[in-house]
Amino acid sequence: MTDDDRPMTDGNRPLELSREEMAAMMEAATERVIDHVETLPDQPAADLDGAEERAEQLREPLPTEPTNFDDLLDLLFDGAIPKSLNNPHPGFMAYIPGGGLFHSAVADATNRYVGTWFAAPALTRIEANVVEWFCEMVGYPDDAFGLLTTGGSMANLIATTTARRERLPQNFLDGIIYTSDQSHHSVAKAAVLAGFPPENVRSISTDDEFRIRVDELERAIEEDSEADGREPFMVVATAGSTNTGAVDDLDAVADSCQREDLWLHADAAYGGFFAMTDEGSDRLAGLDRADSITVDPHKGLFLPYGTGALLVRDGQALARAHAVEADYIPDWDPDSGLPDFSQLGPELSRDFRGLRVWLPLKMHGVEPFRTELREKLELAEWANERLRELDHVRVVAEPQLSTLAFRADLPDVAGEELDELNQELLAAINRRNRVHLSGTTLNDRFALRISILSFRTHREHVEQCLEDVAAAKEELLD
Ligand SMILES: *Cc1c(COP(=O)(O)O)cnc(C)c1O
Repeated sequence: MTDDDRPMTDGNRPLELSREEMAAMMEAATERVIDHVETLPDQPAADLDGAEERAEQLREPLPTEPTNFDDLLDLLFDGAIPKSLNNPHPGFMAYIPGGGLFHSAVADATNRYVGTWFAAPALTRIEANVVEWFCEMVGYPDDAFGLLTTGGSMANLIATTTARRERLPQNFLDGIIYTSDQSHHSVAKAAVLAGFPPENVRSISTDDEFRIRVDELERAIEEDSEADGREPFMVVATAGSTNTGAVDDLDAVADSCQREDLWLHADAAYGGFFAMTDEGSDRLAGLDRADSITVDPHKGLFLPYGTGALLVRDGQALARAHAVEADYIPDWDPDSGLPDFSQLGPELSRDFRGLRVWLPLKMHGVEPFRTELREKLELAEWANERLRELDHVRVVAEPQLSTLAFRADLPDVAGEELDELNQELLAAINRRNRVHLSGTTLNDRFALRISILSFRTHREHVEQCLEDVAAAKEELLD
């Protein structure tokens, strides 16, 4: 054998699995995953007991020897996955739940590249369909378009960069951004990442229902417009806040933006898909007037994490803000009728997010999604009514969508003592492990939140939640 004939890897190519190996791997994984998903309701809603010790045990050096797949499945499903907040659990109503549709995990197996249209025109069309469907869901006109992102934070960043490029000169440091004190922290982060000093972000106060005070907003814009070296250019309104689900008066904010010629971005990461329901679209009135909208399919469409979207009213704006050419990639063909997604945002190589959304929507049609969302609005309203019947419980934020906030309230307890009491209440509810809630600070005081958004959460789970709130409250107060 001459040197040229010798296989460069001694012929052993373990990364190329045989048909039998692939089938065995899928079968083993399928078994474990289906068991896991099917038993979700019987699992604890959270289990962080000893989770940090477990994490420490999992610290390990770069593997040099192979490990059997079944052992790895055991390690994950028995030793690592259970030691976490069980966010796909039906009783998970903390933060903003998502759920994670099974279909989408199956869709991810294709691993096709859709960053540039020429590489997969048919698949690019599938992802473009998804973007167009989202535009339709929020009431955007036909020439709107957008981009699937990893999540809402990335969408808010791309929106800020796009607004900056559309509205400000190359030297943009005078640009001022307005948002409310209830906006998601990714809005402030986006401003910094887009190059603005933190002090260029104005945090406008909110009203009793945690909506931006439009009078304060207008006053702040006017003051900055009159000052030297400040250029108001963007307002970020919240269409469903993370804290309480508060929806800013989008029509009023849109009026102000129109008058002052400012870019209006609506952060509807949590709330946007409720626009598909009649009730939700009333509450989100004015959303379609925004120049750009963040939506998070991994929240409101129940997809697995890693799927967000930015929608832009003028579909050409994203390319104007991001397109840069390269010698090693064929030029985009404007006549193709297809987008070059890599020219619409910061990423070149990216996962085929569109298929993850397309598959469940095609398999079921849009109606079951709408029904689920409507149910979540009703469940939150129902929880609100039931909480109001409890002594010594005060609803601090009524549901505007599917999130509400409450706290235990005793006549002779105030200040930090009240905070501690409510933190204990939260711990006592979560200790029961049928549901998992999270807390926040509202008007400087600790409050508990119920956020209902999983396709697995139905009336029986909210019923359990209310039972556990009542029982925990009695344990602590009565
Ligand atoms: C969740 C959320 C975000 C951030 O989205 P990620 O997908 O977590 O990055 C932004 N804004 C609001 C209102 C949210 O609820």
